[in-house]
Amino acid sequence: MEIIETAWDWAGTLSGLKSAETLIFHHAAADCTAADVHRWHLSRGWLGIGYHYFVDKAGRVWRGRPESAAGAHCLGKNFSSLGVCFEGNFEEETMPEAQRRAGAELAADILGRYPAMRPARHSDFDATACPGRNFPFAELAGAAEPPFPDAAGHWALEEIRACSEAGVLKGRGDGLFHPDECATRAELAAALARLLRLCDKNTKDGA
Ligand SMILES: [Zn+2]
Repeated sequence: MEIIETAWDWAGTLSGLKSAETLIFHHAAADCTAADVHRWHLSRGWLGIGYHYFVDKAGRVWRGRPESAAGAHCLGKNFSSLGVCFEGNFEEETMPEAQRRAGAELAADILGRYPAMRPARHSDFDATACPGRNFPFAELAGAAEPPFPDAAGHWALEEIRACSEAGVLKGRGDGLFHPDECATRAELAAALARLLRLCDKNTKDGA
């Protein structure tokens, strides 16, 4: 996924992260940019933007601190967590589709790279409403779950996920993928036809 890099002017040297145990979700409680957050956090006397990522309402993902650095987003957890902040106030509004999709992709990427990491809300550790009652936590936290229970741990899990997300190859209607069963020629034809339609659509979209 695309991460927008910014050469932040840190007010000092960032400390190193000690462990990556928790992925903590926040909201900004405002409509703002990553640069706004950087300014706000500098004015609090911090080194700069305290989150590792910022996801805006258009679904763009900005890097804040590098993952190797400790954040400034959750007291007591800054040396053992990564922080992701979402533009908006999810006490009052609901998250736009583009932002949800980008957040899920980012969460799945991070959680996939740190298998022991657990997702959490800021409010799980602090007396705060952050990230807001309408924050789609289950959807974002579950982004790294296998698409079918019987695909968990399978060597082809990522290929199964890619095919099911693209709608090319689905389950058998019983909520399972049956990864080691044979496909009939009819199922193969249906999957190939969906793939051809997808390729055709992408070619036209890209033209
Ligand atoms: Zn927060």
